[in-house]
Amino acid sequence: MAQRSQDRRVEETMEQRNSRLSVMAEHAREHRRIQNFYASRTTLYPVVEEHNCGEMDNICLKCGGLYFAAEKNAKGVYTHCCHNGKIVEQASVYPMEMKVLMDGSDELSVHFKNKIRSYNSALSFASMGAQVVPPTGRGAYCFRIHGQTYHRTSHLHPPEAGEEKFAQLYVLDSDLATRRRMERGENSECNPELMRKIDEIIRRVNPFADAYKMMWELEQQVLREEGREASENVTMFISDDRLDSSQHRGRYNAPKRNEIAMVFKSSDGVPPNNRDICIYPKQRELCRISTINPNCDPMTYVLFFPCGERGFCINQSYSELQFYVHRLSVRRDIFNPILYGGKLMQQYVVDSYVKVEGNRLNFIRHNQRMLRVESYLGLADHINALATEAGIRPGVTVILPSSFIGSPRAMQQNFQDAMSIVRDFGKPDLFLTFTCNPKWKEIKDNLFLGQKPHDRPDLVARVFDIKKKALLQDLKKKWYFGSHSGRHSCHRVPEERIATHASIAGISRRG
Ligand SMILES: [Zn+2]
Repeated sequence: MAQRSQDRRVEETMEQRNSRLSVMAEHAREHRRIQNFYASRTTLYPVVEEHNCGEMDNICLKCGGLYFAAEKNAKGVYTHCCHNGKIVEQASVYPMEMKVLMDGSDELSVHFKNKIRSYNSALSFASMGAQVVPPTGRGAYCFRIHGQTYHRTSHLHPPEAGEEKFAQLYVLDSDLATRRRMERGENSECNPELMRKIDEIIRRVNPFADAYKMMWELEQQVLREEGREASENVTMFISDDRLDSSQHRGRYNAPKRNEIAMVFKSSDGVPPNNRDICIYPKQRELCRISTINPNCDPMTYVLFFPCGERGFCINQSYSELQFYVHRLSVRRDIFNPILYGGKLMQQYVVDSYVKVEGNRLNFIRHNQRMLRVESYLGLADHINALATEAGIRPGVTVILPSSFIGSPRAMQQNFQDAMSIVRDFGKPDLFLTFTCNPKWKEIKDNLFLGQKPHDRPDLVARVFDIKKKALLQDLKKKWYFGSHSGRHSCHRVPEERIATHASIAGISRRG
């Protein structure tokens, strides 16, 4: 490059040389002018004070949710915690022995929180399956997944004896179950005594543990009566609604029920309906749980919901996203185990986000008519023609609307908006990248004892959002970088819901 411009200079005429030098002189003058402008600004304006969100001591009167003052909505109300009183959950008592482990700072608590994902998967009734791909390099713990997630639970007996996992372990006695758990390689660093202690607590308070035990007892009774070694006639369904006494009466023999499940003995082994989670005595395949089933969360995250508290149910006056925001809220004098979960909290947040986004995509897939897909028929014809040419069968075309954040059409629309702003107002004067600092005072002050910023993605995201809005106010209303044309383009990129940054391009008013 440098060689090429040198060659060009050797060949240039006197007139070309003068023109080049005058352009360079003009650039130098412009550079000096900008430098002088900013140098004079610092003397004209006072030093800007560091932004502070204040204390997190504003309270929601409906549920006790705690807020920073800047988190009010336009009507001056705090609504995230309970959607203005619409989200009401049945109160349950978190076992004291587990609370001590969650919020303690002794050696055992530290060990428990370090290995909390191992303890949870060893003790849960269902597994969350995903391709976990941690980021490369050093740094804070980050739970990152690729591809699809799925939730599965086990049937009553394993295909081969000695391979018990998940709920099957609650049929064995506590000592044997702990031994089976500790035999698994991924649990080798867990403390067997602690594992047995939590197992006993779960057996005492959890309705799923009761349900599996109940099914096993009925099976034993049937086997005794029939004098056989295995029975396929006993089945259990775990209802997605809490059971009432009017359900499923009369048709099946010897039903036994607890709060969430019903066990049946029937001649064909078929349970009353297949809408719920059906558990059979023995099946090779694990039983898949739908993400909209309210039992999915308590079965997968047994350390957060030891008493079987239900997750999100459809047909409510609030959305799934609002429900999960409610679950992650900080409340005065109410212990929320999720906020103490550390690595398991990261998993829960990622899992919940995938569920919310998956259900949004599902809605789009099943409501294409509402989204006026027929206006894209030309595109569909083109894809069909391409597929026929290539000799492949085209699938069903699903159009993602531009309102779906992250979709190609949303990107395209943002790009076109940005370009038309530039066309009207000229090129941006500023390109700011605003990153989150985990050492911000508001974050440090509101962490619980012994926590690091990466243990609280909820708090980091909240503080970052307040500060990002304050920065935009500084640019637009206080004119810290000169009068603003009222146009900016802001792109926020949450990375795994922990570290977060925003890129803002601002355009000042000219003239
Ligand atoms: Zn509230």
